Amino acid sequence: MTQSGIIAVSVVCGAILLFLLVLIARAIFCKNKRGDKPFEKSIGDTAEIQAHISAALTIPTVSQVNEEDVDWAQFEKFEEFLRQTYPYIHEKMQKKVISGHALTFFLPGSDPSLNPIAMLAHQDVVPITPGTEGDWKYPPFSGHNDGEFIWGRGALDMKNHLIAVMEAAESLLKEGFAPKRGLYILLGCNEEIVASEHSSAAAIARYLKEAGVSLQCVVDEGGGVIPLNVKGVIDKTLVGIGVAEKGYLDIELSVQAKGGHSSAPPAHTALGILSKAICRIEKHPYKAKMPTFIYDMLNIVGKDVKSFPLRLVTCNLWLFRPLITYIMGKIPAAASVVRTCTAVTMCSASTAPNVLPQRATAVLNMRLMPGVSVQSAVDRLTKIIKDKRVSVRVLKANEAPPVSSTQTDTYKLAAKLLGSNAADRTVAPYIVMGATDSRYYREICDEIYRISPFETKVELLLTTHGTNERLPVSSIKTAVEFFRSFISQRTAF
Ligand SMILES: [Zn+2]
Repeated sequence: MTQSGIIAVSVVCGAILLFLLVLIARAIFCKNKRGDKPFEKSIGDTAEIQAHISAALTIPTVSQVNEEDVDWAQFEKFEEFLRQTYPYIHEKMQKKVISGHALTFFLPGSDPSLNPIAMLAHQDVVPITPGTEGDWKYPPFSGHNDGEFIWGRGALDMKNHLIAVMEAAESLLKEGFAPKRGLYILLGCNEEIVASEHSSAAAIARYLKEAGVSLQCVVDEGGGVIPLNVKGVIDKTLVGIGVAEKGYLDIELSVQAKGGHSSAPPAHTALGILSKAICRIEKHPYKAKMPTFIYDMLNIVGKDVKSFPLRLVTCNLWLFRPLITYIMGKIPAAASVVRTCTAVTMCSASTAPNVLPQRATAVLNMRLMPGVSVQSAVDRLTKIIKDKRVSVRVLKANEAPPVSSTQTDTYKLAAKLLGSNAADRTVAPYIVMGATDSRYYREICDEIYRISPFETKVELLLTTHGTNERLPVSSIKTAVEFFRSFISQRTAF
């Protein structure tokens, strides 16, 4: 080998060695910055709060797809329960009822030049699936407290949250709370009806907009506090702050045909044509693309991973981002956070085996990533189907709201209060898969965060909307303390 050849090989080997050293050094030294002061403790015993949550769960404020089926008397009962339970809120805050049963409370701040903050919750719960009532350990509207859990529909979604916000505000007002910034508490009454035309949250947001109100920040449900213990890999409580949520889109595909007797069929029936369109859609999923906030989340969580071989990857995401995105795209649960998803969920055609369909329809449910608009999704589908015989019609749609920044004072305060300084916690941004009422506030607020400060194991979270929904009693204290600190501190500057 010539001398210049030896130099070239040495330079390449040196560069590879240096590169590996950087990866290893990052895997060894990357750590999340932590202070030594976890969040402040401010309330004592929670017996009374537990009783209030139980009482709230005994009032079946059930949402129904057909509004005529809603028992609004239960919402009136709930309103009366709040009036009796929270006298300071009702005395000090201005109450207004919007679109029938949505409740709004406002405490003006001492400095009117500062935009108020808003704490959101919904009063309604989903119905009990008929026939499953008997599967519950305790009746779904009993609010039974067995010392470990409070049982009932709405225990996790989200009367726990609603009551915790009310308790926080009530206890602050009792102590003479007089903030600089105004405080809104906004309680919708039909959040569980997806993409409802009559959304009470949309009505509240419209009312505020017409009154010229801009909000400094909105805090709604979503996110979570989940203990994660995988031996040798990670042992932390993960706290997700929802900085984004997906858009929602129901689409109907339909094909018209002549119909007739099935003994003399054409080459393709209406259903055949429709099936081809469905196949094309499934063959062309959206490309997986890791958004910045998911990259940030993985970066933060990755620094708390314990296993060294894994840390080589999780502490060097700048290098492995394309590979990880590719792998996530192949796993359905992980794919939902890196791409717009499409599911073909319903189908109908002929009413009899020997009758050719005159009309075949299918329904697609899509969950749109932030940045993917409803119109762009419809245009893309039409292009993929490439068949004029298939009509595409939007049934229901909700645009994904813009992503809220992790660099705002609001995010930083929430992260600190949720324990970003605590050694046993990992606080990271996150995308909420379902839709929340907060999306309707995007025209009057840039800082929208979805936070559920109740520490709950994953298996319990899965009871949300299901049988045996229940709230761990142990999660209540920290949640109320979080809301108290957040409200008092975010209204102070
Ligand atoms: Zn909810």
